[in-house]
Amino acid sequence: MKPNIRTPERPMLVTCGLPYVNGECHIGHLRTYVPADVYVRVLRKLGHDVTFICGSDTHGTPIVLSAEARGVSPKRLVEEYHKHFKEIFEQLDISFDHYGSTDAETNHKRTQEIVKALIKNGYVYPRSIKLAFCSRCDRFLPDRYVEGVCPYCGAAARGDECDQGCGRHLEPGEIKEPVCKVCGSKAEFREQEHFFFKLSAFKDFLMGFLETLDGTDNARNYAREWVRRELRDWCITRNLDWGVKFPGRDDLVVYVWVDAPIGYISFTEELSAMRNLDWRAFWKGDGAIIHFIGADIIYHHCIFWPAMLKGAGYSTPDAVVASGMVTINGKPLSKTRGNVVWTKEFLEKFDADTLRYYLVAYTSHTKELDFSWRVFQERVNNELAAILGNLIHRVISFAYRNFGAVPDGEISEDVFTAIKNTKEAILEALEEYEFKKLVDSAMNLAGLGNTIFQQSEPWHLVKSGDEDVRKGKSVVRSVLQIIKATAIFLEPVMPSKMEKVWEFLGMEGDVHAAPLDEALVEIKIGQKLKKPKILFPKVGDDVVATLESKLPR
Ligand SMILES: [Zn+2]
Ligand SMILES: [Zn+2]
Repeated sequence: MKPNIRTPERPMLVTCGLPYVNGECHIGHLRTYVPADVYVRVLRKLGHDVTFICGSDTHGTPIVLSAEARGVSPKRLVEEYHKHFKEIFEQLDISFDHYGSTDAETNHKRTQEIVKALIKNGYVYPRSIKLAFCSRCDRFLPDRYVEGVCPYCGAAARGDECDQGCGRHLEPGEIKEPVCKVCGSKAEFREQEHFFFKLSAFKDFLMGFLETLDGTDNARNYAREWVRRELRDWCITRNLDWGVKFPGRDDLVVYVWVDAPIGYISFTEELSAMRNLDWRAFWKGDGAIIHFIGADIIYHHCIFWPAMLKGAGYSTPDAVVASGMVTINGKPLSKTRGNVVWTKEFLEKFDADTLRYYLVAYTSHTKELDFSWRVFQERVNNELAAILGNLIHRVISFAYRNFGAVPDGEISEDVFTAIKNTKEAILEALEEYEFKKLVDSAMNLAGLGNTIFQQSEPWHLVKSGDEDVRKGKSVVRSVLQIIKATAIFLEPVMPSKMEKVWEFLGMEGDVHAAPLDEALVEIKIGQKLKKPKILFPKVGDDVVATLESKLPR
């Protein structure tokens, strides 16, 4: 059901797709986290009771294989990257209330509880299947432990996915001509009992669920297509040591796509234990649940996950917001080809806020976002420096030099109208999950501030007669009002830069806590201003050339 963002009613839980912690964070990851953080920060400014959670996705074969390749335990590997992601999110000012791990005790317990409920309700059943087995390694070969040929299109495929052909998810036992990924031997097929989730029983429920699901169209449309075409039961057990044990079977763990989304529940539970919050308000009650995810995991969040929740007697999500993917210089992001920008390296050279701005302002949330150093340079120099930075620096410097404080002028009605319109555009942006609209409307307001200041020429007015001085003061106070409003409106996008603007304006309190409506409260006459510093230094051509040269042509 669509959350009412204009009036706080239900408590809101916002989650982000969990990063899979077998490697470092690159800017492709951030397409989900930054807009979700913007969304949450605006909700807080509207007075909502909002909880924002995420955590590391720690199980599954890719992690076990990465750990084996590095000669460390899976536990050690996930602890290392969990710490890495947590630090990166802090540096990027992603304001999670809690960042957990799916390997925590809470998640093991909650996963087992849910699987037991699904068994009890008749949605999980055993079936014997033929699985790839390596006699040389003396083990079954789950998911990425095996490679072979796709049974649907004949392309070379991995055990869990036809990654180079038709893109289909492959169920255990489906792959043809299996070869062991560990030793390279030809694998054989052996029969073993596994457990299946009866997804096919949820067709009617899912059709109805997708009718009322809020969020982005790409998520709903893609999921509807799947439900119409086919709903196959899912094998939810794997032959692995690393993971959450399937209840009653020490040799099997649950498939990683069972315990990963359950992390959303267990992280809420963990937060409940730390502060005055009841996780049941969301997962057993009617609090709003909003999932931000990448478009590559729509199937899991719009089909598998709601069916699992429904089957186990939990509340289902209200909205799924799916972002488009990220390309670098127009080509797919690829770690193996080196076509990647690492977040840590970015943050060593530039401010987090410039990256947050780029990711939100570049395009519609559901479209593909291309990153290039050239466009980054253009955006910083022509928008952040030339429009926003110029407004703040020029106007506050002028006011500081001439008056030292906010002068006693009248704020024009047109300015308040423009601020009201901007606020309305921001609310619409939130309702439509179009964060570019939010940042564009705030930047237009900044542009208006520049135009008023330039056209009114207060530098002449303040040197003339009394009447003109009065006019000059009104222009300055009006534009300072615009700067104050812009700082509030852009705080969700650039929290650390707007904190500085708040300081330059001599505002009391905290721009992060300032409600959206504070933008319409008149800036106080006589409030002491500070001498502003440059907020957005220009990005030089030489810097861009060096960074460009590191990427493949
Ligand atoms: Zn295929
Ligand atoms: Zn082998």
